[in-house]
Amino acid sequence: MKILVTGGAGFIGSALIRHIIRNSQDEVINVDKLTYAGNLASLAEIENSERYQFEYADIGDKEKMTQIFARHQPDVVMHLAAESHVDRSILSAATFINTNIIGTWVLLEVARKYWSELDALKKMRFRFHHISTDEVYGDLPHPDDLAEADPLPLFHEKTAYAPSSPYSASKAASDHLVRAWARTYGLPTIVTNCSNNYGPYHYPEKLIPLIILNALAGKPLPVYGKGDQIRDWLYVEDHARALYLVATAGKAGETYNIGGHNEKKNIQVVHAICDLLDEFAPKTVSCREQITYVTDRPGHDRRYAIDASKIRRELGWQPQESFESGIRNTVKWYLTNLPWVETIKESHLPTLI
Ligand code: NAD
Repeated sequence: MKILVTGGAGFIGSALIRHIIRNSQDEVINVDKLTYAGNLASLAEIENSERYQFEYADIGDKEKMTQIFARHQPDVVMHLAAESHVDRSILSAATFINTNIIGTWVLLEVARKYWSELDALKKMRFRFHHISTDEVYGDLPHPDDLAEADPLPLFHEKTAYAPSSPYSASKAASDHLVRAWARTYGLPTIVTNCSNNYGPYHYPEKLIPLIILNALAGKPLPVYGKGDQIRDWLYVEDHARALYLVATAGKAGETYNIGGHNEKKNIQVVHAICDLLDEFAPKTVSCREQITYVTDRPGHDRRYAIDASKIRRELGWQPQESFESGIRNTVKWYLTNLPWVETIKESHLPTLI
């Protein structure tokens, strides 16, 4: 199979491409604009594979995307290219609207034209897999706000959309476009909505790598509000396995939620990282001393948690990493891969978010 991956130089896209090249005979075409978040060094392990090709392009460039589809004749599209950082979307939403909404629209139109001209068998087998987030559902009741006996609800595939941030609103819009292109034009699409990912090659503006690297540099460890926001953490390699399974065995027209069954408060995550750093790279005082509470993010969602029973039941996927094993791997990875961090241009790194 030929799989066209958009955003393959990013955190999840690069994990997906490494997974496909390592574990299948499929070919991958990576289409990426190399924004601040794209880093080809994350693909060093597979870049010499004869089954891997890179195309430098913006998904919003219709002419270039049309040429790429014509040249490579993909069987499957896995669409991950996006602006992905909530804090940046709050500062300025323009690139989020352009890439996440308009870019997805352009890609859908290019894919639809390409798909409509395929022969019957290829047309039937073609898939457009749109990779989205659980943040489109807004937030869930927090245990601190509920009585002990109250059940804790989870996001499932039929949960109504209620995005809170410019980022999640732009992803919600793109999900709706994908759904409409399936319903109106019959394009064989699949949508996956996933919880927070973490693991190797994560851009250091996101919570987990930011805390690890700030701790090593002796800088403050910023924690929003009281640090009691809950996220359902999924190890990125578990996500990559799920995505490949959905793209190759999922049913067209379906949505699958993907989650890690690892609900943790942000402060618990920060404590776990500090404890591991105290074990692996001890200093005279614990890293916990560097924790600094900062003003909460506006509109900050309180809790996310995924019901991943559909993908388990229908496709047999479940996460292999627990939070404890995944966070241990991640901290170790950063400690032994500091040269990768240095490949990120200093000017792109946030000061302190
Ligand atoms: P990322 O920010 O690390 O990577 C995004 C990639 O897309 C980068 O390589 C960037 O260069 C590329 N890109 C951006 N705009 C582009 C454009 N116009 N044309 C071509 N390429 C472009 O993001 P990520 O964390 O790897 O997330 C990938 C996808 O998964 C996103 O769609 C995101 O919404 C979704 N998602 C992320 C998470 C998470 O926890 N990180 C969770 C659920 C879903």
